[in-house]
Amino acid sequence: MIAFLALLAAVAAAGWWRARRRAQEDSLRQARVLSGLREKHTQAIEEHQHQLETLLDSMIEGLIVLDNHGRITLSNRAAEMLFGFSRQMVGGSLLEAVRHHEVAAVAARLGAEAAILDHEIRLEGPPLRVVQVNAVVLRDSAGTGTGSLLVFHDLTRLRELEGARQEFVANVSHELRTPLSLIKSAAETLLDGGKSDATALDRLLKIIDRHADRLTLLIDDLLLLAKLDSGRMELHPEPTALRVATQDVFDDLLRRAAAREVRLENAVPPGLIAQADPDRLRQALSNLVDNGIKYGRIGGVLKVSARALEDRRIEICVRDDGPGIPPEALERVFERFYRVDKARSREQGGTGLGLAIVKHAIQAHGGDVRVESEPGKGAAFYFTLPAAGFGDRSS
Ligand code: ADP
Repeated sequence: MIAFLALLAAVAAAGWWRARRRAQEDSLRQARVLSGLREKHTQAIEEHQHQLETLLDSMIEGLIVLDNHGRITLSNRAAEMLFGFSRQMVGGSLLEAVRHHEVAAVAARLGAEAAILDHEIRLEGPPLRVVQVNAVVLRDSAGTGTGSLLVFHDLTRLRELEGARQEFVANVSHELRTPLSLIKSAAETLLDGGKSDATALDRLLKIIDRHADRLTLLIDDLLLLAKLDSGRMELHPEPTALRVATQDVFDDLLRRAAAREVRLENAVPPGLIAQADPDRLRQALSNLVDNGIKYGRIGGVLKVSARALEDRRIEICVRDDGPGIPPEALERVFERFYRVDKARSREQGGTGLGLAIVKHAIQAHGGDVRVESEPGKGAAFYFTLPAAGFGDRSS
């Protein structure tokens, strides 16, 4: 009996141990599953965090999030670049980071106002920047304010472009109005009886003719420039012999050169072949040679030369021995309507667009343009074009 009871106790004990071990194994398994889930969850949160940061950093607009105490909780790269602070400023105050009282004042106004939209501020430079700020109060799902969001849009480039466009429109109107008013007053004089005097008639008709030509030239240049500028101009590059192209331009301008007793010298080696659109190349060369004749010395020399550069490009140089260009104007001569001497340019029939056309025509080929000049020692305009082949470079 005792032995039987002992056996029962042993069986019960074994069952208890087995049940305990199973319970332990179960809880271990559960713990492993839970830790796996936690790890996955953490990974997912980190992944989201990374995605959010990438998204915010790829934004053009600057972004700063503040908590209820005005401390930065989040910022993106555009905001950091705009105000010149680093991500270490997270946790710091807005003013410390942006160092700009007007920005801090916009943030301070939030609360009294739920949103401040399209507020423009000027960040004193250098460089000076115009920035648009949009600010809103952030709320949780219960509607409680949790902080604020500031979004900054840099309008500097846009404002510059608007300014350039307005200046261009004003210049165009002025340039068109001048010949138009001269044509109009000549026509009025004729209508008022000017045609009875043969000399006056001839003079007035010549004025009308000259200024109508000037208008045509100006409109042609404007249209060409607009096409080049917008990229709508289709280029047809082909192997173009530079010496021949130079000679063609010289032949066209022979009479203009003779009128100012300018000797034209073609020093381009015959073997230099550029990969260029022949019409656009002729246009660029023609504008530069024409300028050399117009602004160079009476009785001077206008020389075109070229050389192959190491990187399969060719550099062409148009040089005159005239009075040259003052240093302060060198940067600006390629701008539309910029002239060193307005009266001189008009008198020579210039539109003020010649060098802007050269620049765009060459840039459309992937080339670049520059000018060198020392006052009194002439001007040298250089431009590059891709080479089609070098051929014979000996002469
Ligand atoms: P424009 O129609 O007035 O000639 P461009 O754009 O061709 O216009 O040239 C701009 C200005 O650059 C000219 O008005 C002139 O003042 C200056 N310039 C251009 N080429 C020369 C040169 N070879 N020598 C001196 N000044 C020049």
